[in-house]
Amino acid sequence: MNTDLLLRNLRNIPDFPIPGIQFKDVSTLFKNPECLREIADEMTERYRRAGITKVVGIESRGFVMGAILADRLGAGFIMCRKPGKLPAETRKHTYSKEYGTDTIEIHADALGPEDVVLIQDDLLATGGSAKAAIELVRSFGVRKIYCNFIIELRCEGLNGREFIGDSAEIDSLLTIE
Ligand code: AMP
Repeated sequence: MNTDLLLRNLRNIPDFPIPGIQFKDVSTLFKNPECLREIADEMTERYRRAGITKVVGIESRGFVMGAILADRLGAGFIMCRKPGKLPAETRKHTYSKEYGTDTIEIHADALGPEDVVLIQDDLLATGGSAKAAIELVRSFGVRKIYCNFIIELRCEGLNGREFIGDSAEIDSLLTIE
């Protein structure tokens, strides 16, 4: 994998959305055709033999690589969304955040016990959103759960991997320490 190419094209925005946060803006990777292809090729290679039947994208940046990967792997694509966005019957999961709670939803008929699922998001920070998605996907009784990120932040005491634990097989393309 051409790590330099990806790191050179990843935009960092200091103090967004609040002071102290270094926001990793993957839109600059998505707009560059070479980077988009590099990410898709690398992820496809890593999961080619995993038997993935469904890719679940976390709203909204997880939709981009999630849909590309689903197509490359011959899998279906499922949207994991914020409340009230999905039109049919949904299954919900509510989880605690630093302040208050958050809820995510997946269509109730999206997954089943026969599925091997790959959850995709752009970035792993505390692991809160990924763990919530894993728990929601697990509630469908699926066979196995993989979880993939373009970027894994391990700076400033962040360790999302540890927070998620062994509830899913985790992988990321770029680790930022
Ligand atoms: P977390 O639940 O703390 O692992 O946060 C992951 C989610 O928040 C992902 O959907 C990211 O898109 C977003 N996120 C958190 N921190 C950052 C950051 N420093 N730069 C860009 N996105 C972030």
